Amino acid sequence: MAKYIYAFDEGQKSMKDLLGGKGANLAEMKRLSLPVPDGFTITTEACIEYLKQGAKLSDTLMKQLYTELEAFSQRSQKSFSSDTELLLVSVRSGAKISMPGMMDTILNLGLNDENVKKLAVKTNDARFAFDCYRRLLQMFGEVVYGIPMASFDKYFNQYKKQQGYQNDADIPAEGLKDICEYYKAIYLEKVYKPFPQEPVKQLTEAIEAVFKSWDNERARIYRELNEIPHDIGTAVNIQEMVFGNSGEESGTGVAFTRNPVTGEAQLFGEYLLNAQGEDVVAGIRTPKDIDTLKGQMPTVYQQFVEVSQQLEMHYKDMQDIEFTIENGKLYILQTRSGKRTARAAIQIAVDLVEEGIITEEEALQRVDIKSIDQLLHPNFDEGALKQAVLVSDMGLPASPGATSGKIVFSAENAKFESEKGNKVILMRPETSPEDIEGMIASEAIVTTHGGMTSHAAVVARGMGKCCVTGCSNIEINVTDKIVNYPGGTLYEGDIVSVDGAKGDVYKGEIATIEAESSEAFETFMKWSASKARLDVRMNAETVPDIQAGYQFGAKGIGLVRTEHMFFAPERLVEMRRFILSDTHDQRITALNKIKTYQVVDFEKILELSGDRPTIIRLLDPPLHEFLPNSQEDKQAVANQLEVPINELEQLIENLNEVNPMLGHRGCRLAITYPELYLMQVEAIIESALRLKAQGIACQPEIMIPLVSTVAEFSILKTNINERIDRIQQEAKESIDYSIGTMIETPRACLIAGELARECDFMSFGTNDLTQLTFGFSRDDAGKFIGEYADKGILAKDPFQTLDIEGVGNLVKMATEQAKAVNPEIKIGVCGELGGDHKSILYFNKLNIDYVSCSPFRVPGALLSTAQCEVEVSHKYAK
Ligand code: ADP
Ligand code: MG
Ligand code: MG
Repeated sequence: MAKYIYAFDEGQKSMKDLLGGKGANLAEMKRLSLPVPDGFTITTEACIEYLKQGAKLSDTLMKQLYTELEAFSQRSQKSFSSDTELLLVSVRSGAKISMPGMMDTILNLGLNDENVKKLAVKTNDARFAFDCYRRLLQMFGEVVYGIPMASFDKYFNQYKKQQGYQNDADIPAEGLKDICEYYKAIYLEKVYKPFPQEPVKQLTEAIEAVFKSWDNERARIYRELNEIPHDIGTAVNIQEMVFGNSGEESGTGVAFTRNPVTGEAQLFGEYLLNAQGEDVVAGIRTPKDIDTLKGQMPTVYQQFVEVSQQLEMHYKDMQDIEFTIENGKLYILQTRSGKRTARAAIQIAVDLVEEGIITEEEALQRVDIKSIDQLLHPNFDEGALKQAVLVSDMGLPASPGATSGKIVFSAENAKFESEKGNKVILMRPETSPEDIEGMIASEAIVTTHGGMTSHAAVVARGMGKCCVTGCSNIEINVTDKIVNYPGGTLYEGDIVSVDGAKGDVYKGEIATIEAESSEAFETFMKWSASKARLDVRMNAETVPDIQAGYQFGAKGIGLVRTEHMFFAPERLVEMRRFILSDTHDQRITALNKIKTYQVVDFEKILELSGDRPTIIRLLDPPLHEFLPNSQEDKQAVANQLEVPINELEQLIENLNEVNPMLGHRGCRLAITYPELYLMQVEAIIESALRLKAQGIACQPEIMIPLVSTVAEFSILKTNINERIDRIQQEAKESIDYSIGTMIETPRACLIAGELARECDFMSFGTNDLTQLTFGFSRDDAGKFIGEYADKGILAKDPFQTLDIEGVGNLVKMATEQAKAVNPEIKIGVCGELGGDHKSILYFNKLNIDYVSCSPFRVPGALLSTAQCEVEVSHKYAK
């Protein structure tokens, strides 16, 4: 027969699955002989069965409950019916993973019309007794019978006002007695049944209510947000009451063993005298700082300090402790690992290692990877955020950061306003490569279309710029220059604030708190780097980004997107000249011009990298991305290139593709126009030669994109090698370079073994690979991916987290084949997934060498791979 009930004496901290976190820790504290009121725990299994069996307490459970109540009475020498030794209990929920404030607690259970009088006599304090009773009536009414707390509060406040009492504590016993009578009438009025006078009935109804609270709306939402499974159930703890509301020698409080905001190693907490339960957090009275207790009750304070140190040492982590003082005696009611900010998490982890309490490996597991982003970007001030008016909370958290600025609707205007010194937020239905300069000029980008790998998202992440995409509940109308949102309309020049870590947009300016690097953060990242097996590289091409990435510990550059270099106006003209040329000679002239720019770019990039490897991807996007769209732009281009507008339009028409993403792009372009890649290769090698002349060695790695046959790669590689040989001979110098490919079509995965014979390296471009494996357009998938997740068709958006079964399997297979043929080949991942924790968990198991992600995701990626290694070494140690 299943054992559903454990006395606190029978449990311990390792039994969280069964006893819940609260129950297991109460038992553990008993084992440590700490002053914990006695009690017992009904298991999570009992809860799961209760919910399964259609909400009925089973006979077995009831039998065990009676037996345990009997034993409990024996131990405490108290009972629900005794005249002098009255037993009163709390009924507290507690799941395996703590869900603070999500489920319900009832205090003072066991009181009824008769027992309240006994309590008054015994304590010689009728006021106290009736205060406990009215609290029970309120809590029980709300939790068990669903009577809104407001019904009770309304009467309570009315009564206080009528009688002219300022504070709760001013109400005398007689007043509280009246309130209790009235509360009982509320039961009859609202739920047509009386408050149950029989304590055991109170208890069983309370247990059922806690079980049911597992399924209430706020608990469900909390679990979804925190990825806690819905089927683990909650335990119920029945514990003897201690009374913090029994006079000025009593009180209740909460304390953290270290500061949960900064991590500072100092007790941090609050308490209230003559108060019970949630009074401290409820904000009715302003609590006092824990330091004040030192003066008010020096012995209790000292004892509490000792207990908190003992608990921290025992759990080897910062603890969040609830305590109550009853007539000068300290009781501990709960301990758990305290929730903390990212900054505190790092500080505490590093301090605990330095204090010799945990190892470096353990420290690495203590920090939540998602929170690392919080550290590198500014955040909105929590207080200011609470006052703010929401424009949209439906957006995707495309790139973290928190910033405010004036609304602009076009890239030109973004540039124009920022040149005047204004901070601007670029709001567009979506962005395209033409908007790049406007994006650079903006503080943040907000779009209504597109997902986590839309153009706006990818580019913004690369720049470390705040971005929210897919705000589907607002309309950005660039023609009329207005934004319609559920609460009203915004106009150009209005100020908005954007939270890229949450995907939220607010009206007006919100104060921010700057990200600051700390000594602890640097130490922590050093430990991560030393444990990481995979190298982490960055996807970057601008000087500030590359500097940031190296500062964050990147081992090289995994992806330079050369197309990002073609959008400055003087280059765009030449690019357009190249695209729109009729003759080979015209094309060469245009390319030579572009080359002079590229040499300068590559020289900067390669100099910053020095002897660290740098992958430069040759031009990838479809050519139409470089062409003008609007009539105005077309006219301007026609003027610049000195061709008649109709001729230009014809040329554009010729280049038009039904499906440009699947069209003439990547290596396919270079098969048609070999001069294009050869120009880029010349620029790479010439810049490397220039650096070599200055004594700077560098390691360019040339990457050919979108390959799907071996022949494509071989032809281009032969051309490139020939060209490089010639340059080197002329210069009488050589450069240490390599040539590889990006694997982003399913076919390339299938022939990875054959490709590996030809390549020095391979890098999985997971954005395109996901798009092509599913056949989901990454710019349109936003329209249905949400529904796919809701209906359980896909667990996660595969553009955000690797689809292990499909895309992951292709990567695995291709890696195995490639390494089997060419053990020397270097293999990496350079799509967005290279920076995603769950995806890295999978990549780390494969025989790949590195992942590459945007610079601001480098620390998180390093920690991810370090955590994988630590986990593996623990598994073997066990
Ligand atoms: P939560 O999980 O939301 O923190 P708790 O079960 O810890 O809820 O209880 C809510 C409040 O009631 C806490 O302030 C706690 O200290 C208090 N409390 C719980 N049990 C007792 C008890 N046996 N005696 C006195 N106060 C108690
Ligand atoms: Mg609690
Ligand atoms: Mg691609």
